[in-house]
Amino acid sequence: MINHSESTRFLTIANLTKIYLEGNNRLTVLEDASLEVPAGQFVVLLGRSGSGKSTLLHLIAGIDTPTSGSIQVNDQKLTELSEKERTLFRRKHIGFIFQFFNLIPTLTVGENLALPLELNAGGAGDPSSAIGYFLEHLQLADRMDSFPDRLSGGEQQRVAIARALIHRPALVLADEPTGNLDSVTSVLVIDLLEKLVRGAGHTLVVATHNENLTAHADRVIAIHEGKIVEHS
Ligand code: ADP
Ligand code: MG
Repeated sequence: MINHSESTRFLTIANLTKIYLEGNNRLTVLEDASLEVPAGQFVVLLGRSGSGKSTLLHLIAGIDTPTSGSIQVNDQKLTELSEKERTLFRRKHIGFIFQFFNLIPTLTVGENLALPLELNAGGAGDPSSAIGYFLEHLQLADRMDSFPDRLSGGEQQRVAIARALIHRPALVLADEPTGNLDSVTSVLVIDLLEKLVRGAGHTLVVATHNENLTAHADRVIAIHEGKIVEHS
């Protein structure tokens, strides 16, 4: 049984509204949405395309700002920070995995993984041992010096997972992480992600339209009429 008590509450979204304005059009994606996620929970945000999943993840990551409402990660209210402060907070505490991997094409696998550690200079441990650990656990040990375009989609996503986890972020967000992978590769990638995230005790929110991913989750939520609801 998952403990939703105050003491373990890690991510708190309160009365969140996001309205996109385009010319004279107003599109309300979130309206007074609230959610509490305890530390260490694996949450799947399930929903079809256009339901607002990426919008919610971008708000949680502080990449975008809400129209109103608040987002708190651990002790930090993201909605009280400036854009620059949010960027620094994200670099340190959040790992983000994208559908299209978003690796830097001119850097090798090893260099892509070193980057989050360099951006957090003074952070934990020896970079080469962290890189070695993740390459090993993601079955990429011999790809350290490869460039991303030499890798398969599944390999690129495993590198992207390593990049998202390497600085030991408390919160990991994944937006359609298997959206560009075949079904066999999707299972491998999500199994590895789950194993690493659970092993480290990270909190994980995965947005997907793929119902198969719900089998891995502690909890499945959806966006319905602007609210975040438990998925039935
Ligand atoms: P999902 O990730 O579930 O496919 P999105 O969060 O990307 O959904 O989009 C939700 C809705 O918001 C869609 O109707 C989309 O067209 C719209 N939308 C997303 N981003 C913007 C934006 N920057 N400006 C205007 N509308 C947007
Ligand atoms: Mg999306």
